[in-house]
Amino acid sequence: MDIKAKAREILANMSLSEKLGQITQVSYTGQPVEEMREVIHKIQPGSLILCGSALGGVDQQNAVSREAINTLQKIALEETGNKIPILFGRDVIHGHRVAFPVPLTMTASWDFDYIEKSYDAIREEAINDGVKWTFTPMLDMYREHRWGRIVEGTGEDPYLGGEMAKAVVKGVQTADPAAPRAMLACAKHFVGYGASEGGRDYNHTEISDYAMQNYYLPAFRAAVDAGCATVMSSFNEINGIPTTGDKRVMTGYLRDQMGFEGFVVSDWEAIAQMHLFSGFAESPAEAARLSLAAGVDMDMMDNYFLDYVGELVTEGKLSVEELDTAVLRILETKLRYGLFANPYIDDQPYDLEKHMDMAQKMAEKSIVLLKNEKKLLPLKKGARIGIAGPMARCGSDLVGTWALDFDPALSRDAADALAEKFDLIPLGEADYRTLYRDNLEACVVMLGETRKVTGEATALVDIGIPADQLAVVERLKKLGKPVIGVFCFARPISFGEYDRLFDAILYAGHGGTRAAEAIAAILAGDAQPEGRLPFTLPYHQGQLPLYYNALPGSRKINGYYGDMVPALSNYCDATGTPNYPFGYGLSYTEFEISEITAETEVSAADLEAGKTFDLAVQVKNVGDGAGVAVPQLYVRDLFGSRIRPLRSLRGHKKLALEAGEEKTVTFTLGKADLGYYLEDGSFILEAGEFDIFIGENCLTENRIRVTVK
Ligand code: BGC
Repeated sequence: MDIKAKAREILANMSLSEKLGQITQVSYTGQPVEEMREVIHKIQPGSLILCGSALGGVDQQNAVSREAINTLQKIALEETGNKIPILFGRDVIHGHRVAFPVPLTMTASWDFDYIEKSYDAIREEAINDGVKWTFTPMLDMYREHRWGRIVEGTGEDPYLGGEMAKAVVKGVQTADPAAPRAMLACAKHFVGYGASEGGRDYNHTEISDYAMQNYYLPAFRAAVDAGCATVMSSFNEINGIPTTGDKRVMTGYLRDQMGFEGFVVSDWEAIAQMHLFSGFAESPAEAARLSLAAGVDMDMMDNYFLDYVGELVTEGKLSVEELDTAVLRILETKLRYGLFANPYIDDQPYDLEKHMDMAQKMAEKSIVLLKNEKKLLPLKKGARIGIAGPMARCGSDLVGTWALDFDPALSRDAADALAEKFDLIPLGEADYRTLYRDNLEACVVMLGETRKVTGEATALVDIGIPADQLAVVERLKKLGKPVIGVFCFARPISFGEYDRLFDAILYAGHGGTRAAEAIAAILAGDAQPEGRLPFTLPYHQGQLPLYYNALPGSRKINGYYGDMVPALSNYCDATGTPNYPFGYGLSYTEFEISEITAETEVSAADLEAGKTFDLAVQVKNVGDGAGVAVPQLYVRDLFGSRIRPLRSLRGHKKLALEAGEEKTVTFTLGKADLGYYLEDGSFILEAGEFDIFIGENCLTENRIRVTVK
């Protein structure tokens, strides 16, 4: 079918009001059918969002049944003029009935094949409840650790963001996005939202064109290349212009530079905000005009398109072509993704148990072992272990934010899961001095934050360990037993000066429905820790912003990479180095990575012509148990017409190795890995010298110098 021609044919029969309806999304949260019938007859909305508030991640959202959705679809198809199916959307962010780990935690697995499989399972559940469109993946890079929405994204690296984008889009949209049970993905928030000043949500951002092209846009490019059906505009302004009203962003970056062909939906109230709060649009009509003209095609929940675009077109302030372009993009998307062919969803039961097992495996893969003194972990089964800390019994908090439909009955307290593996002694206030202390082998302290304080509008001024939790650790320490910290924070936190209180540390994040079982499995050695940090854990909050892909300073300073010239330290009272660097993570075994073998001269002309070259290392498990190694490849362009980052991640592998086993790992690099974007979006490769690093985290010094001639 010629989709474009078909969309034009439908458009030709649409009245102005039908067009306005098509570019409008309104809410459905289970209102009576008669009420919704009236709405559908009156507006003929292009989409219904199955959500009733702007803060869907933290507010309780009614679940809506598949039957109700099919009923409304029937009304649209049988009782309205153009029989255009409605697109039903909901924030299915990291799970549906079964919650998988929050996106940031999942990214720590660096296992994008398994993430894709997980999103396929998530899709199976969500589509069975009639949800055809989900507002994920969230691809906002951040520089501010205090921002609450870090939990929804992929950390501080555009390569990982791009890998996540591909995995989520493929998992959700399936190999055949037109299939009846495929869903539509939505890459959000376009763009720069994570740069909010001071981490304060909805705040000003200042982004250079160079940073935009090389840091904020790449994950979106990957999503577009993977065929992501839709994109959501963001709340923020950049350098004084709201993205939702900026043609340079919505059309320039997204369509002209990246070739995006789907449709753009505004974020909830993003159009209205330009008038209500930011002082960018003098009237609601002007806000509507600016965003439609910029390239936003559908209005999420503001009704500004519905109310004002008609008069704007009549008055000639917007052209009919501009309106039609938006309508066509929505119609084409609905045709391309099979909505006309398969508007109804039937019941196809899925295997909930299988999804639970997958969620557990995903959570296990996502746990990062940061510290393991004297090989304290794994603990022996049946060992007498004390347990303390607020996350030991926290109900569904480990499920994480933005889990609208998870079934609380499926998740357990960590203490209950641990009690199945160990002789668990809860250490309450009164117990610290009791007889238990002498019999304990170690204490597990479960620290963290609740799901309500992560996600949208949850910035913190203090990202350290909360004082009351620290007090618990300090009391435990006095027992004289090894202390194992399990960190259930859904964001990177800062605890450098308190690191010494812990003999072992697991960074577990918010692991979804099966978080408790996953933590217990790792502690007991039933699963191997294979996660790696997708972010930097600063030593001190005063170091922020602190990120691995920093540009070199103008002097040899004691920055992230710790060039030890004390007189030129960044700070008088601390080093510039992190507590744990990006990419860091231990295993219960140890690995050795050999020197790199590669051609040390490659031709620029060959690379320009699309040729690639290989770099190989031997990875050996030199410990006494099995484990999963995660060799990572970083590039540094030593000289360029723009200063290039000290390290940029350009590849990684995951490989399971038995004790003593050794494997060759080969990375392939090409122009895309060595070049970079200029301010105008063009991509260049500059000849010269490159240091290429392959190691276990971003601090590796295992390098080879390659000259591009
Ligand atoms: C959030 C989006 C979300 C939308 C719909 C907004 O407040 O910023 O990420 O998809 O609400 O719930």
